Amino acid sequence: MSTGFVDLHLHTTASDGVLRPSEIVRYAKTKGLRAIAITDHDTVEGCEEALAEGGRIDFEVIPGIEISAEHSPGSMHILGFFLDIDHPLLKERLKYLQKARAERNPKITEKLNQLGIDITFEEVLKASGGGQVGRPHFANVLLEKKVVRNFQEAFDRFLKKGAPAYVDKFRFTSKEALHFISEARGVAVLAHPNTLGMSRYSELEKLVLQLVDEGLQGIEVYYPEHSREEIALYRSLAERHALLTTGGTDYHGMEKNGLDIGVGRGDMKLPYSIVERIKAARSRSLSGR
Ligand code: AMP
Ligand code: ZN
Ligand code: FE
Ligand code: FE
Repeated sequence: MSTGFVDLHLHTTASDGVLRPSEIVRYAKTKGLRAIAITDHDTVEGCEEALAEGGRIDFEVIPGIEISAEHSPGSMHILGFFLDIDHPLLKERLKYLQKARAERNPKITEKLNQLGIDITFEEVLKASGGGQVGRPHFANVLLEKKVVRNFQEAFDRFLKKGAPAYVDKFRFTSKEALHFISEARGVAVLAHPNTLGMSRYSELEKLVLQLVDEGLQGIEVYYPEHSREEIALYRSLAERHALLTTGGTDYHGMEKNGLDIGVGRGDMKLPYSIVERIKAARSRSLSGR
């Protein structure tokens, strides 16, 4: 029996989290966790530092990612665990995403300027802590400048889809994302299915089966924004199709709603056996290649 708890969904300054990769590793250890996965949006830039810190303080770090895929009506995020972060195809695909963001960010700045808001891209860059720039960094600058009273208002008034400063972001299809995750020897898991915007079980099941066809191996069942009913539903869906079940808090390091690493809003307890099952599935798929 292996003991200890894990958190398999975390963001760092490499994307829109506020803790540096090394800081989040130390924080996880302080909190008594056994292992964490670094799952920054569209980048693995934080993994190396996190792995090094894990090695230094003897703490298990799983190099991962969270990729946004094309989907409607809601949003689809795909997690990749145990990635070979130096894999050429992965690197090439992620570079493409960085380029797309680099083109998008000045457009968001421009739209905000057109709305009469005094904001420069340099200010947003500074707020990003040196990693990839995303909308949450714009939101923080708007908050700093007192254009809005809180983070959410920045999204609601300006940044969310349909709002006046929204600029769409390039996304790979699920097939493309699942392909480069598995090429990079990663295990792909559907993140927080409750954001997919699918209310009918049959509809969700159909989508999941399509994703499995494309290389998906698991579902993120345990997630702070999932209700008890959703957890039960996603777990039964995973069991029915022999998929892995994973979980994580999606901690970004700035939560003001009582969410914390490892425990979520206080009641999450994700056993290390989740990691063991991911490892076993990875070995199986690698030996089958
Ligand atoms: P980006 O990758 O730049 O499109 O930013 C996506 C991030 O913005 C997500 O990971 C969320 O943290 C945040 N976000 C997106 N939509 C909203 C929203 N409606 N309200 C608050 N935060 C949001
Ligand atoms: Zn995020
Ligand atoms: Fe997500
Ligand atoms: Fe996330």
